[in-house]
Amino acid sequence: MGSREWYTDGLRFECTRCGACCTGPPGFVLFTDDEAEEIAARLGVTVAEFLDRYTRDTPAGRSLAERQTEFGFDCVFLDRESEPGLAVCSIHDLRPTQCRTFPFWPENLRSESAWRRIGRECEGVGRGALVPIEAIRIQRDQHR
Ligand code: SF4
Repeated sequence: MGSREWYTDGLRFECTRCGACCTGPPGFVLFTDDEAEEIAARLGVTVAEFLDRYTRDTPAGRSLAERQTEFGFDCVFLDRESEPGLAVCSIHDLRPTQCRTFPFWPENLRSESAWRRIGRECEGVGRGALVPIEAIRIQRDQHR
């Protein structure tokens, strides 16, 4: 892929914590067994309890659960209370790879138009300091 990357100069991204990527239409957030263990430990529950109370089955696999709010289907870990005006992740330092690597997913990096398209859903795209190509590759390649 190396020479065909159109973003060799890096891309701007800075999360504003608007929460838009953690709500909206029903979706899924997949996680690994290790991630499940870490989150369960943080919550002080067993992995079985975590799976039962905070996750659900989807066609793509076991996903974090959602709850319907006035904004849409919020991730079960989206916290709209702690910081007024912001939507923050209550397990931010343990969030699954799918969340941690957003928006640098292969489908969003496929072309400049794909990047612009995700920028219409995520206001952090195009903001802040340049994220260097090396950091983008690391996040992108966690999806393989
Ligand atoms: S939509 Fe973008 S800016 Fe908003 S919380 Fe998600 S990553 Fe951050």
